[in-house]
Amino acid sequence: MSLPVPSTLSPSKVTTFTDCALAFRYSVIDGLPEPPSPWATKGTLVHRALELLHTLPPDERTVDAALACLDDAAVELRDHPEYVELGLSAEEAVEFHDDAATLVRNYFRLEDPRAVRTIGLELSLEADVDGVRLRGIIDRLELDADGELVVTDYKTGAAPPEQFERRRLSGVHIYSLLCEQLLGRRPRRIQLLYLRSPLAVIAQPTDRTTRGTRRTLGAVWKAVERACERDDFRPQPSRLCDYCAFRAYCPAVGGDPSAAPARPAAAGPVDAAVPLPTA
Ligand code: SF4
Repeated sequence: MSLPVPSTLSPSKVTTFTDCALAFRYSVIDGLPEPPSPWATKGTLVHRALELLHTLPPDERTVDAALACLDDAAVELRDHPEYVELGLSAEEAVEFHDDAATLVRNYFRLEDPRAVRTIGLELSLEADVDGVRLRGIIDRLELDADGELVVTDYKTGAAPPEQFERRRLSGVHIYSLLCEQLLGRRPRRIQLLYLRSPLAVIAQPTDRTTRGTRRTLGAVWKAVERACERDDFRPQPSRLCDYCAFRAYCPAVGGDPSAAPARPAAAGPVDAAVPLPTA
């Protein structure tokens, strides 16, 4: 029996599908709940703190102000299920917050936020590209000294090894394509700011990278359509299995696929599924 095809693609969906088609099915097609994880929730917290920091006038974006923004973000998150369901003890909660503060401090080792000309934060973009509905949320859009666009994506997880540089930039290349489609201008620069290392990975989108991004998106979209048509989503075991929310249903790690709850018939479109974490 064929399965409903998602109506949109996003960088996180592309990554999930290429990492493991079965995890994509459980998350995006079936909309199975994924329990919050400390690293994803910490990512949410730090992203929000940096978003608040960049709403301040440039000369007020100091380390102390950023830590105050982190405190504000923590208050916002305190009663949210994403945080509450972590069930942290008082001691773990202090460690969690201290580590988030380390990430925020590390951010200042990568750039001086007082010099950033922010024009958009948590910017939600959606456009048709070669027949694929593309959607993405850009952490930060700014203008460089020449008035050219710059796309920035914060990462709170560890930076992958250098040989995976092209792959780790693929998400921001999709953001670049979205900007080009919607704003009529290709960003001059795209950058990943890894706050743990800390490390900045920077690239310049070109005709060649843009063509490559379009080709990849087209190929992933066709593969998703084919997998839905044939109900054929194969597991791809990797080190990511250690963190996978669907282990109990995955035959590749001894789980039982028949135990996976079916997507309710009354559920909305598959894109109503919980967005995948990007941290
Ligand atoms: S446990 Fe591994 S192989 Fe199985 S669904 Fe999760 S990521 Fe895929």
